[in-house]
Amino acid sequence: DIVPANRMQGLPEQFFAKLVGKANAQAARGRDVINLGQGNPDTPTPAHIVEVMQQASADPKYHRYPPFRGYPFLKEAVAKRYKEDYNVDLDPETEVAILFGGKTGLIEISQCLLNPGDLCLVPDPGYPDYWSGVSLSGGRMSFMPLREENSFLPDYRAISDADRQDAKLMFFNYPNNPTGAVATAEFYRETVEFAASNGIVAASDFAYGALGFNGQRPISFLETPGAKDVGVEFYTLSKTYNMAGWRVGFALGNAKIIELINLIQDHYFCSLFGGIQEAAAAALNGSQQSVRELGAKYESRLNALFQELDRIGWKAERPGGSFFCWLPVPQGYTSAEFADLVLEKADVVVAPGIGFGTHGEGYVRLGLLTDEDRLREAIARIGKLGLFG
Ligand code: PLP
Repeated sequence: DIVPANRMQGLPEQFFAKLVGKANAQAARGRDVINLGQGNPDTPTPAHIVEVMQQASADPKYHRYPPFRGYPFLKEAVAKRYKEDYNVDLDPETEVAILFGGKTGLIEISQCLLNPGDLCLVPDPGYPDYWSGVSLSGGRMSFMPLREENSFLPDYRAISDADRQDAKLMFFNYPNNPTGAVATAEFYRETVEFAASNGIVAASDFAYGALGFNGQRPISFLETPGAKDVGVEFYTLSKTYNMAGWRVGFALGNAKIIELINLIQDHYFCSLFGGIQEAAAAALNGSQQSVRELGAKYESRLNALFQELDRIGWKAERPGGSFFCWLPVPQGYTSAEFADLVLEKADVVVAPGIGFGTHGEGYVRLGLLTDEDRLREAIARIGKLGLFG
């Protein structure tokens, strides 16, 4: 008999894997399913980046093992981007780790810092991968509620003395998945102060850093004075350059933490394919016009979606960033019941808020990940169920 290790027992089925399964089953029955449930960018990687990869893939030097910890040119490129975009100085050798997508770093940092029983503060609702890392490390979690009346920012004053003392690590993520909230400079100053005074490592997940709406440019946690003393930021090319399939991410900031992440990765993987690293450097070093265009595209999709929400009488707050909308479910339904209903009756996939934590109950998340006509069509179909207005 195959007996899994204890660490596998707390590990649930990956949330999105389950969601995709349901949607595929519906599509297999021949229905025209509109999938707004997953956060998978629908537009291709800009051509100039793909071309670099095509050329580089023929270069035999990349056919051998890449160097442990990756090529210096890629670390230099991300440091330069942070200087240009956020005026943050990073030493490419000691303050940058290349990751296999941001996701791996979010899990590795827990493995680097938590002993079994150690406490981690995680946002609720929040991206489920934070829990996976804590669970795999045998750590404990204390959830920080993100409430609409608090602009979906955690309230540090509400954290108990016991939790302040016990916590070794905390996660936060702005622009936020799933709520679409953005952070203020003041919130980040409070975060540095909270982390420093309680000896907690601060882990900022900046996966949606390039995606701000309403003319707002999201700020990086590392812009905050003292941020590098207390933590790191996770950055990824997945959303900014439509490179989710390429799996390029970074951990940036505190040199001691970066060294730990690099050390654990020396055992897990020795770095990305060299051609991918060259293409990633081209994305970071090249013209950022495609990033601006992408932002404008999501914004006009958001406008189209909100026009249609308004038309059917579904009242909701506009997100400040990310490519998600966080919409309240109608009275009388749980988020899971409502998500099942719209899949069943309207052939639209939405992510139920409960999948992101208990404070996600009462909401569903919709991604702006198809064109304007399909977004309007999805909302119009949901409108026909007659649950709003
Ligand atoms: N963090 C958040 C909040 C995300 O939504 C995602 C992807 O959906 C990631 C991190 C991971 O991105 P990747 O592993 O593609 O870099």
